[in-house]
Amino acid sequence: MEPVVIVGAGLAGSEAAWQILKRGGKAILFEMKPEVFSSAHRLPGFAEVVCSNSFKSESLDNAVGILKEEMRQLDSLILRAAKETHVPAGESLAVDREAFSNYVTQQLEQMENLKVIRKEVKTIPEDQIVVLATGPLTSEPLSQEVQKMAGSSHLFFYDAISPIVTAESIDREQSFMASRYGRGGDDFVNCPLEEREYYALVEALRQAERVPVRDFEKRYLFEGCLPIEELADRGKTHCPWAPETCGVYRSPYRETTVCCGAAEMRGSVRILLQSVGSKHD
Ligand SMILES: Cc1cc2nc3c(=O)[nH]c(=O)nc-3n(C[C@H](O)[C@H](O)[C@H](O)COP(=O)(O)OP(=O)(O)OC[C@H]3O[C@@H](n4cnc5c(N)ncnc54)[C@H](O)[C@@H]3O)c2cc1C
Repeated sequence: MEPVVIVGAGLAGSEAAWQILKRGGKAILFEMKPEVFSSAHRLPGFAEVVCSNSFKSESLDNAVGILKEEMRQLDSLILRAAKETHVPAGESLAVDREAFSNYVTQQLEQMENLKVIRKEVKTIPEDQIVVLATGPLTSEPLSQEVQKMAGSSHLFFYDAISPIVTAESIDREQSFMASRYGRGGDDFVNCPLEEREYYALVEALRQAERVPVRDFEKRYLFEGCLPIEELADRGKTHCPWAPETCGVYRSPYRETTVCCGAAEMRGSVRILLQSVGSKHD
């Protein structure tokens, strides 16, 4: 049997390769890193999680939990890697990005019937079975080819990168660990703010230096996942939480708690904490 050509060793391409090999097939996996990096990718390995390190809920009472369970039953490489490299995140499945990517890379590189070619693919290979798994940041030449083949203009996707807060910048005397929505373990750092402190945070966000918008980022915002500076720009009282999660947060250290004025973060790697709070996390 001819090998299947897979272009892109992201989450989809890595899983596709794994599933083909497990079924006795052969595959050729093209990955342009480290020769060429997209504007969001940084790690040289496969399956790089570029934004939130969370794969969302593990609970079987929602679609994302059920999808993961189905993948697990199919012996998914991505879920094996997530299990090996997970970090505490209550009911959600979150991973240490680097360890996750290393795990997937190592598992695939040791597979016998897989040939890995580190090269940018610029045209769609012909006369072979091809899986194009180059993701939302497909390199420009291949993107043009897909556009020609599909005969339509590009779609656009909206997203906001989660802000990352350094662990040492958090005052552990003022913050406390708790579960999210009262479910799962106490894996999240909560920083309750009084009114004055909350407004100071909003003002600091407004004045802060901003990450320049990159070429692929157009400023069309998705209301379910807004950048934190956009929330601050919308006004002092703009709620930083999805409305259904807004409420009074209790701190073991303070008598006063503020509705909507809390920052909650989950551990990502040892020295970094990633803030959560957008609706899609
Ligand atoms: C800024 C940003 C934020 C995001 N935030 C989230 C989030 O919070 N939650 C979420 O679920 N998803 C998020 N996504 C979407 C995320 O990219 C996907 O969930 C996931 O990574 C898609 O997997 P994939 O395998 O399709 O693509 P990717 O993981 O992007 O993998 C594609 C791979 O193909 C390679 N490649 C591209 N072009 C070529 C080429 N021509 N030749 C060879 N190799 C090539 C790339 O180097 C990459 O390794 C975000 C994406 C971006 C860009």
